[in-house]
Amino acid sequence: EKAEVQTTLRPLYEVFGGIQGPAGRFIRSRVERLSTCWIKAGHRIRENTTKTTSQQKRVLLYPGVLSGGVGQRFGAMVDQGGPLGELVQWADLSASLFILGHNLTFTTSQNHLHSVIGAAPGKGSCPIQMPLPFDLIYTDYHGLAHLQGAMGLAFQHYQCRFRILDSFGTEPAFNLGTYARSHGYNTLWGSWRLQPLQYMTMFPHTPDNSFLGFVSEEVMVEQEEREEEVEPGPYRKDNTAVVYGKQDYMWQGKERYLELISQELETHGTVYQPPGHSAQLPSNIINHGLLTQDQFLQLLRRTKVFVGLGFPYEGPAPLEAIALGCVFLQPRFQPPRSSENSDFYKGKPTTRQVSSQHPYAEEFIGKPYVWTVDMTNTTDVQETVRAILRTEVKPFTPREFTSEGMLERVHAYITHQDFCSVSFPTWPPESALRIHLGPLGQSCVSVCRRASLVCEPALFHHLNDPAAFTRLGLSCSSMDQEVDNHLFPAYSPWGRRCGLQRERLLFSCAGSDPVHRRLCPCRAHRAGQVALCPDCL
Ligand code: UDP
Repeated sequence: EKAEVQTTLRPLYEVFGGIQGPAGRFIRSRVERLSTCWIKAGHRIRENTTKTTSQQKRVLLYPGVLSGGVGQRFGAMVDQGGPLGELVQWADLSASLFILGHNLTFTTSQNHLHSVIGAAPGKGSCPIQMPLPFDLIYTDYHGLAHLQGAMGLAFQHYQCRFRILDSFGTEPAFNLGTYARSHGYNTLWGSWRLQPLQYMTMFPHTPDNSFLGFVSEEVMVEQEEREEEVEPGPYRKDNTAVVYGKQDYMWQGKERYLELISQELETHGTVYQPPGHSAQLPSNIINHGLLTQDQFLQLLRRTKVFVGLGFPYEGPAPLEAIALGCVFLQPRFQPPRSSENSDFYKGKPTTRQVSSQHPYAEEFIGKPYVWTVDMTNTTDVQETVRAILRTEVKPFTPREFTSEGMLERVHAYITHQDFCSVSFPTWPPESALRIHLGPLGQSCVSVCRRASLVCEPALFHHLNDPAAFTRLGLSCSSMDQEVDNHLFPAYSPWGRRCGLQRERLLFSCAGSDPVHRRLCPCRAHRAGQVALCPDCL
């Protein structure tokens, strides 16, 4: 059966029926609020993708983070300033898949999981032949462990059908247990031996994973009031700032920075206050308490500057703020934060160096929407705030964070990504490949980015070949294929040694060292849609 673009989301609310508590309320109300926006985007997608309609997939969505004891704790935090980014993503993923016409089952209960995947209750009882009634299973790291328990031996057999929502990403070096353990990349997460593109991230962190993303809300707020073709905004802005930080611990030690901002702008907060208590904030802050997402977005529409405190890292809110016509002011991290120096990133399966609170905002959006400052430098903060006040910005949403952009991307993944085939990937096509030879010490992520391209791990196999070295004018004295190294294929000028990759799971855009020049598979991307190349839909 072909997947048909849907024109209503109503049946999806029944699919969500079983999600309990505050998390369920958050997901349902978000999908409902965005529904007209999804439906419009669906119409446009239908006009543009007639050539590539995909088969209808039977899809299971299982956010392990909402299940069991972990789920109860996570759910309870929803109304108390806990993280909401994951819920945003689960809501938007469900809406995308539903609009694209796939058949969805959504569960947050381990018991229900057992019954829908056809396992007998109890542990590890599935025989390997169990016909799994789903073509795709979207889950997270918590859910993977539950699925392993529920599926027993069948787990390995079907793991190519899994997609893991993994906000911050998992680099290949951490994904392969044996390699991770012997090369110092061992973490609590990781080691599942999936294909790195099966991990789906919140932002395009490392191209080794698939960038799933979410929808930033400008379109939705707009459409009730404006004709489609009219440019959004400008909104009527008060001379105000809203501080990004739902819990008061995030504000601690930032008093001087906040004071500098309050000198120029009336400063508001949306900080959770436990019943009968008030949040510990500087006295001149106007605190609204934790708002519903709806109210929060209404507040941002009247706000001039959205102020980052340095935490939370890499969340959705700054994109929403920019979509609603705010400027985002945020601290730079010098030195950058990473698993080596930050408790938050410690143990996360990534070597990324995080240069500010929101590197996507800094690097992909930038001025005049995003200003990154040294929070401890009074002059820098003052001058930046004043410069912002002299700047007019219009609401802006990168295409990849619109509902149409997300539908286009999810559709492409569903149509083209196949991790169950034993042969090398055929998408994107080889014609998209631009081989670059990196300098010593540079990862393919940055080599490609410096050429305004993006590293494409699905193209690595085309250049893992002695002929690729010759084409780049490198003459190899030896062709090393015996050692595992996630930097391979690579060239070492000392002794003119060339190294080929022998383990395809170790093809990695991330990673560099001082003795290797990496062979990098770069490709172009569409404007505002880094996940897709110009001619590969
Ligand atoms: N948000 C909200 N009420 C508030 C502040 C924020 O509902 O008072 C929403 C906001 O719209 C965003 C979500 O919380 O979509 C996640 O916010 P954040 O960027 O803080 O990421 P997190 O760390 O929660 O994942």
